[in-house]
Amino acid sequence: MSRVPSDIEIAQKASIKRVKHIAEDLGIPEEKLEPYGHFKAKLPLDLIDEKPEAKTILVTAVNPTPAGEGKSTVTVGLGQALNKIGKKAVVALREPSLGPTMGMKGGACGGGYSQVIPMEDINLHFTGDIHAITTAHNALTAIMDNHIHRGNALNIDVRKLTWKRVMDMNDRSLRNIVAGLGGPLQGVPHESGFDITVASEIMAILCLADSLDNLKERLAQMVVAYTFENKPVTCGDLNVEGALALLLKDAIKPNLVQTLENTPALIHGGPFANIAHGCNSVIATKMAASLGDYVVTEAGFGADLGAEKFLHIKAASSGVKPNLVVVVATVRALKMHGGVDKNQLKEENVEALRAGSANLLKHAETLRSFGLPILVAVNRFVHDTDEEMNALKQICSDHHIPVETAEVWEKGGEGGRALAERATSLIEEKTAAFAPLYQAADSLEQKIDTIVKKVYGGEGVVFSNNASKQLKLFKENGWDSLPVCMAKTQYSLSDDPAALGRPKNFTVTVRELRISAGAGFVVVLTGNVMTMPGLPERPGAEDMDVTSDGKALGLF
Ligand code: ADP
Repeated sequence: MSRVPSDIEIAQKASIKRVKHIAEDLGIPEEKLEPYGHFKAKLPLDLIDEKPEAKTILVTAVNPTPAGEGKSTVTVGLGQALNKIGKKAVVALREPSLGPTMGMKGGACGGGYSQVIPMEDINLHFTGDIHAITTAHNALTAIMDNHIHRGNALNIDVRKLTWKRVMDMNDRSLRNIVAGLGGPLQGVPHESGFDITVASEIMAILCLADSLDNLKERLAQMVVAYTFENKPVTCGDLNVEGALALLLKDAIKPNLVQTLENTPALIHGGPFANIAHGCNSVIATKMAASLGDYVVTEAGFGADLGAEKFLHIKAASSGVKPNLVVVVATVRALKMHGGVDKNQLKEENVEALRAGSANLLKHAETLRSFGLPILVAVNRFVHDTDEEMNALKQICSDHHIPVETAEVWEKGGEGGRALAERATSLIEEKTAAFAPLYQAADSLEQKIDTIVKKVYGGEGVVFSNNASKQLKLFKENGWDSLPVCMAKTQYSLSDDPAALGRPKNFTVTVRELRISAGAGFVVVLTGNVMTMPGLPERPGAEDMDVTSDGKALGLF
């Protein structure tokens, strides 16, 4: 058997078009295009004029396992396939963060014959949006520190600073630091630390704002610290939301690129899917719905986190509502949910697949309870047997869940024809009647309880003493009406990462709440959530290189 080329090898052989031609195909006048080199361009916000008839397809998945699901691959592949069957589709995706790229992931642009390109640029510095967010975040830290140093008129308690520093790299040794050491001229000593840039609230805001003015308003509301009287201090109190918005004036514009088959793709924003909502920007999704007839977009992690947040946070605040949800499942992942070890995945095991499909069925049930039609996409891997594929399809049919095989990794858009045909016919025949599972007027406790019971399938919620005190404080501050953003393990429907499949009879413990007032949600922490990842024993960076003529090697 010939060797399968790596993602980067496939990407570098693609017949990439100049971005001006991709824009032309979308009917974008040349004067509206802001090219960054030949293959990337920013698009101005005045191109947003959503077509009411444009359809949005949200791609989500079962709970992730180390076997891999391929959500981005299916998102890109479905976009390509829709174009193959004569529809005008635009893909909207998140921008990868450099930390995971240098660490474990090696990139996040889809895979095989369903990728966005130029993948080297998208995976590395791209158009500088993440750098702009890093700078805006750290500018606010510097201004807050200076305020405290210069007399602290706002009466900030330096033991209660919530705003730290960020960088777009995995660097565990910077998680906790002491700043301001060295005497009176070096500022006031205080504890601080670094998060990865994509965990910055500014990233979440960039992805939820719908204009530059809205971005500025949201920046002003970000809570940076508490006073000695426990009152929140905001970016607006420090009077620098204008400066931060200025630093972000280009980053707010979505980036146009293309897939391997020249399908247009907008890549913009990439907030964490635990302490934030894990979806590309509202602006990119709306622009895609202005330029194309079908938008294919994804949400991070499994449907219990990514899709739930897409629906309760992104859809609720922006009006972007999916017409169809595609749930990506793999035979491998479901076998792991059914108890198979990672090293045994190549062996056929229909029994484990049946057991593990309980995970898929729970997500299907939840998504339907939002009033949305669903379609399962089985992302086929080479070792999946016909027996296993047929068994999985039968399980779906038994539960009246539409299902199609996706072979987009191996064959590009051609391998997604059946998926695209089914997606469009489901959209035509079913009217999505989206309704959130909770209302803004529900208390924070009720919102969390609803998610635990209806989305995770648990029995209820236990609040730590600390979380109970915070619930009171948050209510006093008027944050009770905000949606909640659950920070939970991605691996399980419960808060125990080892409980795979469809766990039952469990409660979820809430340890802490954090306010993201600018983004407009309350973060609910259920376990130890890493906001500054570390690097693995052998970082992906060790495989990366550049040739003397500037060609990238080792990204995947
Ligand atoms: P996710 O979005 O779920 O994190 P990705 O789409 O980024 O997953 O895919 C993760 C990795 O798995 C990529 O390297 C991709 O090439 C690989 N992959 C995805 N689908 C397949 C498949 N059907 N067969 C083999 N490898 C695949």
